[in-house]
Amino acid sequence: MSTFLELGLKAPITKALQDLGYEKPTTIQEKAIPQILSSDSDLKAFAQTGTGKTAAFSLPILELVNADSKNTQAIILSPTRELAVQIGKNIEEFSAYLNNINVVTVYGGANIDRQIKDLKKGPQIIVGTPGRTVDLIKRKALKLGNVKWLVLDEADEMLNMGFKDELDAILAATPDTKQTLLFSATFPQEVESIAKNYMYKPVEVTSGEKNKGSDNVSHEYYAVTEKTRYPALKRIADINPDIYGIIFCRTRRETQQVADQLINDGYNADALHGDLSQAQRDSVMAKFRSKNIQLLVATDVAARGLDVNELTHVINHKLPDQIENYTHRSGRTGRAGHTGISIVLVNRKEKSKLRPIERIIKKEFVETKVPTGKEICKIQLMHLIDNVVNVEVNESEIKDFLPTIYDKLDGFSREELIQKFVSVEFNQFLSYYENASDLNDLSTKENSRGRASSENMTRFFINLGRKDRLNPAKLMGLINEQKIGDKVEIGAIDILDTFSFFEVDKNFEQQTLAAFESNQPDFNGRSVNIEITKKERSGGGRRKRDKNSSPRNSSGFGRKRSDRNSSSRNSSRNSKSGPKKTSGFGRKRK
Ligand code: AMP
Repeated sequence: MSTFLELGLKAPITKALQDLGYEKPTTIQEKAIPQILSSDSDLKAFAQTGTGKTAAFSLPILELVNADSKNTQAIILSPTRELAVQIGKNIEEFSAYLNNINVVTVYGGANIDRQIKDLKKGPQIIVGTPGRTVDLIKRKALKLGNVKWLVLDEADEMLNMGFKDELDAILAATPDTKQTLLFSATFPQEVESIAKNYMYKPVEVTSGEKNKGSDNVSHEYYAVTEKTRYPALKRIADINPDIYGIIFCRTRRETQQVADQLINDGYNADALHGDLSQAQRDSVMAKFRSKNIQLLVATDVAARGLDVNELTHVINHKLPDQIENYTHRSGRTGRAGHTGISIVLVNRKEKSKLRPIERIIKKEFVETKVPTGKEICKIQLMHLIDNVVNVEVNESEIKDFLPTIYDKLDGFSREELIQKFVSVEFNQFLSYYENASDLNDLSTKENSRGRASSENMTRFFINLGRKDRLNPAKLMGLINEQKIGDKVEIGAIDILDTFSFFEVDKNFEQQTLAAFESNQPDFNGRSVNIEITKKERSGGGRRKRDKNSSPRNSSGFGRKRSDRNSSSRNSSRNSKSGPKKTSGFGRKRK
C-alpha cells in the first residue's frame, strides 16, 4: 500500500492528513487520487459512504487548484445539507496548510444573502446542494463558466431525491472542458444515464464490488409480526447494552412513533426526520454525534450526511421501499475500519425482499432469534458488574459521605452487600423480563395462523370504510347481524378510507353473499354491498393494531426521566449520562 505522498500529493496536504490521523490511503483514495492527478478523463467511482470518498475527490482537486485565481474552479454537489457541510469542513481541514484556498458551502434553509456575500470573495471550491446551487446560478451569484472539476457525490441519492432537473441545469452551466467525477454507492439506471449523457468515456474505479455492501458489516434478520416488531426492537437494544446505532424507518410518522415509544420506555433515543426544523435536526445530530443519544430513529433522507464512524448497529425497523437503499443504510455502520451489524426486522411478507437484497450486497442474511428475557438479563447483569469493576472511584469527592455510608451498611456481610447493590440496580429489569414470552414463538404462531387462515378464508370487499366510521368491531357486528351461521370464523379485517376487506371461513362463502343480498343491510344510512375479491390483503395484522399497545412504562429501564420532552419534539438524557457512563442501556437517572 502506498502513502499519500507516493500518490502524488504535496507536503502541505499530507501534513494536514497526518494531523487528522489519516495514516494510509483507503482503497478508493489509492485508486482515484493518482487517476485524477494524472488524467483529465471523467471518472466513475463506485464507493459507499465511509470508504473515504470525500478525500478521494477533494485531495487531487486541492493539489491541482489554482490558489492565485479567484474563479470558481470546482463545484461539488451533494444530496443533503449535512453532507455538504461535512464535505466543506473536510476540505477546510485538508487545506489547513495551503495558502489562499477558499471554500464556500451553499445549501437551502440558510440565509442566501450571506451565501451570496461569501461567493463574492471568490472561492475556488464550492460545495452545494442541488436546489440552492441552481438558485444561486439563476441569481447570477454563482458563475460556473471556469469550472474545471464537477463532483457528483452520492449521485444515486441525488437522483433518488428528485434532483434530476437541478443536475441538468447545473451541468448545463458548466463548460464542456471540465472533468466530471461521479461518486455513487449504487448504479441504478438513472445514474448510468447521467454517466452516459454527461460524461465522456469515463474511467471506472471501485472501492469494492459495484453496489456491494461493506465487508465489515454483517447482516442479520429477525422474524417478527406487527405485534412483536417493537418488543423485538427493544430486546435487540437490551441485549446490546453499548449499542450506538440508527433505527431506520420509512416515514416521518413511523420515525416519530418509534422514537416516542422508545423514549417513553426509558431508552436513550431521539427522532430525526424532515418534520423537525433545521435547528432541531442540528441539535439531535449533535447529541447523537457526542453519544448523548444512543439510538437515533431516522428516515433515510434525514440520516444522510451524518458522519459517524463508530456505529455498532443499523436497524431496519422497516425495509426501505427501494431495496437499493438498504446498501446506504447498512453502509452507515462498518465504516473507517470498524465492524458493524445491520439488522432487519421482517414479517412474513417482507421476508421475500431479503433475497434480492442479498444479491445486491453479495452476502447472506443470518437468521437471528429475538433474545429471550433470560438471555437479556444475563447480558445486562454482566454489563452492570463490568461497569462496577471498571468504574473509577473519585475518593476525594465521596470521602465526606463515606463514614455515614459505612455506618449505615455496618452489619451486612460482603455477599449481602453485593446482592443488595445488584438488586437496587436490577430488580425492575428482572421483574420486567421475568415472565416475558418468547417472541420467536409468538411470531411463528401468528405467522402460521395467518397462513392457515388466509388459505381457508374467502376475502370480501365491502363498500364501507373509515369515512363511514367503520372500525373492526363495528364490521364484526355488522357481519354477525347477518346471521350467516353458527360459529363462522371471521379472519383478517383491513379497514381503508372508503372501503374495506374482511375474510370469512371459505365454507360460508355463499351463505355470506346470500345473507347480505337478502338482508340488504344499511350502515349509518348507507346501503351495504359486498363482493368476493381475490386481491391479496394488505398489512399483516388480523385486527387493526391497537396503537396504545406499546409497553409503556414497562421496560425495566423505564424509570422516568424528569427532562422528557424538553428539547425538540423529544428529549435526550442529560449529557453527563451518555452511553459510556451508564450501567445499563438507556436507563434513566433522575
Ligand atoms: P467518507 O467516506 O469520505 O465519508 O469518510 C468516512 C470517514 O473515514 C471519515 O470520518 C473520514 O474522516 C475517515 N477517513 C477517510 N479517509 C481516511 C484515511 N485514509 N484514514 C483514516 N480515516 C479516513
